[in-house]
Amino acid sequence: MLVSKTLKCKVFNPTKKKLELLSQEYTNFQIYVQTGRDFGIYSATKATFDFKYTKKARKKKQPIPLNRYFSRFKITNHKLTPYWFRVPVKGKRGGIWLPIIPHENIDSSWEIREAKVFKRKRNFWIYITIRKEIQLKTSYSSVLALDIGEKVIAAAVLSSVRKPIFLGREVRGIRRHHAWLRKRLQERELFKKLKEMRGKEKRRVELVLHEVSKCIVELAERNNSIIILGDLKGIRKGGRGKRFNRIVNSFPFNKLSFFIEYKAHLKGIAVIKIKEDYTSKTCSRCGEEGKRVSQGLFKCPHCKYQANADYNGAMNILKRSWEHVFQDGAAAFSPEPPMTERTRAEAHI
Ligand SMILES: [Zn+2]
Repeated sequence: MLVSKTLKCKVFNPTKKKLELLSQEYTNFQIYVQTGRDFGIYSATKATFDFKYTKKARKKKQPIPLNRYFSRFKITNHKLTPYWFRVPVKGKRGGIWLPIIPHENIDSSWEIREAKVFKRKRNFWIYITIRKEIQLKTSYSSVLALDIGEKVIAAAVLSSVRKPIFLGREVRGIRRHHAWLRKRLQERELFKKLKEMRGKEKRRVELVLHEVSKCIVELAERNNSIIILGDLKGIRKGGRGKRFNRIVNSFPFNKLSFFIEYKAHLKGIAVIKIKEDYTSKTCSRCGEEGKRVSQGLFKCPHCKYQANADYNGAMNILKRSWEHVFQDGAAAFSPEPPMTERTRAEAHI
């Protein structure tokens, strides 16, 4: 499994001479982008730009694209910072080595790909794409099933514990608060404020999604579980009921499942997505159709089963995941038998 990410690095305390050279290169590059005139930029950079960018890109400021064959990265034991990046510039053979501080520490197991140089206010930033091959584990001792709902963002059930864990409840509060704010701002026609608020809501929700996904992956790591995710994508096309449509439209599902998948893969944990149709309506005990009587409660008219609706959903995913995992034969499994201790599970609700 090839995992890649962007390492955001700030150019930190470069010498005056280096800063001059970098600024010169950056300025000349912007002139080239907008006018096509070359006042002195590194030839490979020019070629990369010509090759990669469309005409439309030539109308606004662009970061300098750095081809990986002409730039270098190294980890040292330098006092200032261990991370250094060599940027090729016109007029200095071998380019300039710049001290950089990445937003997170990395080791030498990562492969350095292409990079981009940005200028923000007075600072320079280098965004480096890095990647590495990660071997996913082929053997797990449990399953972590996730149901993504509207009330709680994720209901997780571990096959070995069966006690549900609810994560991300605060998202609902954030969204409600912002919906309320939006309405007030609209009434007062404060459109600029309105626009600012949109970004703020997005960032707050995203922060929660990061925490939720981190928590889920840690849980899977501790319990040596494979992660099974209800995949809502399949539902989007079919239009399967109001509830699903509402969830799909109002929550950043793709983002959450992307975060989970990405973080899991970094730890060598596989994520399987299964179709989630009707998991909220199906009774996890008898398999018949039941109902969500109120927001939080699921009731089955056939076997009189009652449970928290999100828990019921996660149990359905857990149940289905057994079929999936065994059918697939993808993982060499030695888990406990599925769904034998229902009564114990129900005691937790
Ligand atoms: Zn039932």
